Amino acid sequence: MREIYKRKYFVILILLFITPLMASFECRNAESRAPDKDKQIGSPVKGDTSKIPSGLKRLLNAYPDFLERADENHLYWKDGTSMIYDDGVQKTFEEKLDNADIEDMMFQEYTPGPDWDEPPAENFEPGRMRCDAFFSKMYGTTKSEVQANLVTITWSPSGDRVQVSSVNGVDSKMKEVAKELLSLEDKYLKYVKKTAGTFNYRKIAGTNRMSTHSYGISIDINTAYSDYWQWDKSMTYKNRIPMAVVEVFERHGFIWGGKWYHYDTMHFEYRPELLN
Ligand SMILES: [Zn+2]
Repeated sequence: MREIYKRKYFVILILLFITPLMASFECRNAESRAPDKDKQIGSPVKGDTSKIPSGLKRLLNAYPDFLERADENHLYWKDGTSMIYDDGVQKTFEEKLDNADIEDMMFQEYTPGPDWDEPPAENFEPGRMRCDAFFSKMYGTTKSEVQANLVTITWSPSGDRVQVSSVNGVDSKMKEVAKELLSLEDKYLKYVKKTAGTFNYRKIAGTNRMSTHSYGISIDINTAYSDYWQWDKSMTYKNRIPMAVVEVFERHGFIWGGKWYHYDTMHFEYRPELLN
């Protein structure tokens, strides 16, 4: 009898160890697996949406072309696959950046408009943690897959031709941003008259994480008026971009890297789930 108990105890220990590892693998893996109903943790909530975390509800609202429904810990895609929301793994700040699950990326609240907590508190940077698997599934898992979705638009403040994803209508939203920026007072034009790039398939310097420029959903505005934490590692917050410019982007679903502790004031990316 005692041997059986020992064995049971051993199996439970192994399961406790393996389950979080499998969950984190699910998010890191670019392609989510086809759902296997018996293996899912929890069950889809029907009718009672109160158990669905607000982060999942916001994602459902933001990406209706791709997302079907959610339960308390899963996101179900229209192609029949699913992703875990919270992998249950305890992570340090750096580990979250390197291997964010969907819950990690929705955890910090982005505040649109001028009344945000400036300067950002240490490691407060809503949107900077991203679950790569989530974005590559929509915008493309390889350079050529992303490129197949790119269209060239004219960034009207400068006349530059830039490449942007047509997925989720990012191209038309970027055009709306450009049009609205042009309607601002002339004094704001210098910040957006030059762009420092949109699509660029690359990892973030010094990391293993894909930059959102890889997906064609980001734009860097004029670097002559921009500040970036990597240029001055003292971590003293700096910004010269006026809120009038930032608010135009935010109105069309783009968050601003100037609201991050690791600030990047030239950078905007399409993240409507943080603005709805
Ligand atoms: Zn950027």
